[in-house]
Amino acid sequence: MSNVQDKVVIITGASSGIGEATAKLLAEKGAKVVLGARREDRLNQLAEAIKASGGQAVYRVTDVVNPADSKALVQLAKDTFGGVDVIFLNAGLMPNSPLSALKTDDWNSMVDVNIKGVLNGIAAVLPTFTEQKSGHIITTSSVAGLKAYPGGAVYGATKWAVRDLMEVLRMESAQERTNIRTATIYPAAINTELLSTISDQRMSEGMTALYEQYGIAPERVANVVAFAIEQPADTNINEFTIGPTAQP
Ligand code: NDP
Repeated sequence: MSNVQDKVVIITGASSGIGEATAKLLAEKGAKVVLGARREDRLNQLAEAIKASGGQAVYRVTDVVNPADSKALVQLAKDTFGGVDVIFLNAGLMPNSPLSALKTDDWNSMVDVNIKGVLNGIAAVLPTFTEQKSGHIITTSSVAGLKAYPGGAVYGATKWAVRDLMEVLRMESAQERTNIRTATIYPAAINTELLSTISDQRMSEGMTALYEQYGIAPERVANVVAFAIEQPADTNINEFTIGPTAQP
């Protein structure tokens, strides 16, 4: 039995891109997937496709900014599949713009979804993982969480925050001997719907050109999530950077 087979895996941001690709791959490998995002039609379509291929999937419309939604997603996993083994906190937005454009609504959305959304997911699942003395929390940060670039101030700040809180979570879990594994993934250009969140026209054009030149498929990131889960319980893939071979 692979380490993915029969695991109950919650995925946020499952309605497109990296989350959708990961849900499909893990379900193929025998995981029971629990899908969360805001677009119900997309979640329903994905869950049906997984079930049609012989996999197991349920979904719940989830806004990760709302702590009650994150809790309800964890509860759905328990009610449907009897527990939860892994949570992939992947939902995110990237409405990049120069700070001087003062797109403060976009700043707030990124802080809400990219940081508070991850914290809400951790808060929803941590008591269960602590009690059962096992569990795996995986997040999607970004290379923007490792390296600054013009236009990416707030996005990068949110992804740096994810990096920091995941490293502290890793240390505290080890200290508290809860056997909770943590993994942070840092993707570069991955072809998804992420660029549609950019409202600044110049930024949008620049990023679109970059992704058209270099972007690779979200399935590549899904492989990394599966790899992290597949390791033996005593082995933690702390961090993983992944991007197009051709991207400088
Ligand atoms: P997509 O735009 O395709 O996916 C983003 C997902 O997040 C969607 O499923 C969206 O679903 C969900 N989402 C957004 N806001 C919320 C919310 N408030 N509550 C619940 N779900 C939400 O892009 P990606 O697949 O690329 O993005 C996934 C993650 O990968 C993000 O965290 C992103 O920052 C990160 N990343 C992506 C890179 C790339 O190049 N694509 C590079 C580095 C990191 P819905 O709208 O239905 O709610």
